[in-house]
Amino acid sequence: MDLQPIFIAGRWRTGRGEEMVSRYPADGREIARLNAASLEDVEEAIGAADRAWRDPQWRGRLPHERATILYRVSELIVAQQEELARLQSLDNGKPLAETRGLVASAAATARYFAAACEVLEGELPTPRSAAVMTLSEYEPLGVVAAITPWNSPIASEMQKVAPALAAGNAVILKPAEATPLMALKLAELFEQAGLPAGLLSVLPGKGSVVGEAIARHHAVRKISFTGGTRTGRHLAAIAAGRLIPTSLELGGKSPTIVLADADLEQAARGISYGIYSSAGQACIAGARLFVQRECYQALVARVAELARGLRVGSPFAADTHLGPLISPAHRASVAAYVELAKKEGGRVLVGGEAPADSALANGSYYLPTLIEGLNNQAQVCQEEIFGPVLVAMPFDDEEELIALANDSVYGLAAGIWSRDFPRALRLARALEVGTVWINTYKTFSISTPFGGFKDSGLGREKGLQGIKAYMQQKSIYLGLSGQSNLWSD
Ligand code: NAD
Repeated sequence: MDLQPIFIAGRWRTGRGEEMVSRYPADGREIARLNAASLEDVEEAIGAADRAWRDPQWRGRLPHERATILYRVSELIVAQQEELARLQSLDNGKPLAETRGLVASAAATARYFAAACEVLEGELPTPRSAAVMTLSEYEPLGVVAAITPWNSPIASEMQKVAPALAAGNAVILKPAEATPLMALKLAELFEQAGLPAGLLSVLPGKGSVVGEAIARHHAVRKISFTGGTRTGRHLAAIAAGRLIPTSLELGGKSPTIVLADADLEQAARGISYGIYSSAGQACIAGARLFVQRECYQALVARVAELARGLRVGSPFAADTHLGPLISPAHRASVAAYVELAKKEGGRVLVGGEAPADSALANGSYYLPTLIEGLNNQAQVCQEEIFGPVLVAMPFDDEEELIALANDSVYGLAAGIWSRDFPRALRLARALEVGTVWINTYKTFSISTPFGGFKDSGLGREKGLQGIKAYMQQKSIYLGLSGQSNLWSD
């Protein structure tokens, strides 16, 4: 198999770091072989990025000219959407229906930030009576490090690359070890769309080597990270030492709440999708289910029935609901959590093992799993499993519910199912999370800010503010009184 080149400082060439192998999680087959970036490659890419964003040819471009590149990328993505979705399914094993959605979302994100770039304005925060006029302008930060996980490559990468470039920065993208192919494909699309050389480099490699070197580099002026909380905390410490901003999209253990007045069928379907889509490998997976006692039996029985009916299989089969987990090691970790749940007193109602189907034996598959009999203090209710494992718990009153739902180090998202909107809104306000879905789950809009409370992160992506997260404000004073300073006459 030919070595896949990587994209360094506007050139495609073999990395000078260690060899990496990309595998198809459905059968473990090798799909690409590449050399990671070396520390010299990191140096070269960041040096080129630092020159590229300062280059008057780029800095002097009008917003609509920068936007044109993003519009072109969006069109290129749409033109190749099926091929891109297939590549992503091969790279991380998500079913095609999901990767098609992620590709469409990446195209929409590029369009959105192209438009945001065109309409972004400075401010005139001048007090009326002042002897000065003040202007406040937004400038790029410089070189931005974008470090991403493996679960939604093209979408999470575009969520960083598009606003950062729209804002006039250069970007060094470090994709996850398991999924370098989508990031490299994205670089190809930006190159085709006419992005000047050096403004985007894609440097695959180990987080502890390549990611670490990028984050510590003196020319990097922001770290935009999506991934696990432990890594996020480590990167925040590096950023604090260097006094540079970070944005951190981290892990979760999101509660889903069903009130007795809910449409139970709608709730059960939403809950099933919220935890089992992406085989639970989603930061926002609704992993803790709190159900009002009156409807607990009925709701849990229906979720169990739906879970048993989900089809686990090839990412490329049209009727697949759950593809494989990303790797054998990750499946072993998910399985170990289920064993732990049993030791903690949990009863496995559905799943709790790999599928018996011999056709799936070589893939990292795991059945949708539903557990009850635990309380929220159990380790499996406190730690992120990142797999298709749901724990159901009954509750009696609202105060107890709020305390249980908030009893987590995480605060990414929550779901509420109820026909009583005032009550649901009251609950939404009481939950310590960045996103609340009421009578829906895992729906997204690019114009709505996204991010976590507590250990789930810092900062927000998306929305019109999303572009400003990659800029710094400069205020300029114009003297109007003719007086040069307080000592003047
Ligand atoms: P991870 O933290 O292990 O890795 C994420 C990225 O960080 C990878 O590219 C990795 O190589 C890099 N990295 C690791 N150590 C590093 C270091 N020392 N310096 C620099 N970079 C380093 O996470 P993962 O296992 O790839 O992804 C799963 C996690 O991501 C889950 O916790 C999930 O909840 C979280 N996630 C969060 C969001 C969100 O928006 N909040 C979205 C998707 C995934």
